[in-house]
Amino acid sequence: MKKLVVITGASSGFGKAMAIKFNKDGYPLLLIARRVEKLTELNLSNTLCKKVDVTDKKQFEDAVREAEAKYGKADLLINNAGVMLLGNLENQDASEWKQMLDVNVLGVLNGMQIVMNDMIARKCGTIINVASVAGVKPFGDHAAYCASKYGVVGLSEVARGELSAHNVRVMRICPGAVDTELLSHTSSDQIKAGYQEWKASTGVGSITVDDVASTIKFAYELPQGVNLREIQITDTRQDN
Ligand code: NDP
Repeated sequence: MKKLVVITGASSGFGKAMAIKFNKDGYPLLLIARRVEKLTELNLSNTLCKKVDVTDKKQFEDAVREAEAKYGKADLLINNAGVMLLGNLENQDASEWKQMLDVNVLGVLNGMQIVMNDMIARKCGTIINVASVAGVKPFGDHAAYCASKYGVVGLSEVARGELSAHNVRVMRICPGAVDTELLSHTSSDQIKAGYQEWKASTGVGSITVDDVASTIKFAYELPQGVNLREIQITDTRQDN
């Protein structure tokens, strides 16, 4: 049996595509999201589906331990759950900043701490954090989102160095714009319309969630002694 893969934010977008791809290849899975019905309706074999808010560390840890009791220790954690609430600093509600920092940064830190000590003890394991190109360069109306994703890039690189002596890999992937539910949670209709206009004017739209999922799976399946530290993946037509 292959080793346990934990995927957060598996109820839509990249996470759902990864769940289907890893399952097809025989990996036992722990799938995590708040909309647990979206996880169970995937109807995947050897898969535990848990309703977890990644900002709740105890809930997150309980789910991981339950999956490990069933399938063995987690060999891969994909910290993918995230929210993008675009807004202008002049008027964006502070609750949106907090939600992004809580989920996108603290949720990632929670996950890493939950799995890393066992990985260190076993001298084996991989953590892949989903950042963004908005974690390596700035975009308008993305201030708090950029803060969260620059945070993911920074913490991933620190952890990569710290875990390297233990043969544990930390990778981050920085995707560009890909069609998912992500934009739909932004509260400003004007910003959402502007984003769609930019995509239409550049022709961004070829890249799919499957492209991102395959790339993550490829990176994980490299030998444990090889670490693809950072991947930037965008539509060829994305100009920024
Ligand atoms: P989706 O909105 O389709 O998926 C986001 C996932 O995160 C959902 O499964 C959602 O599940 C989950 N999620 C959100 N908040 C929480 C929470 N508090 N606890 C647990 N799960 C949560 O977007 P994407 O697939 O696009 O996004 C996945 C990741 O990729 C995010 O980190 C995003 O920032 C990043 N990204 C996306 C890009 C894009 O253009 N699509 C580009 C660059 C990065 P539920 O609501 O059921 O809890």
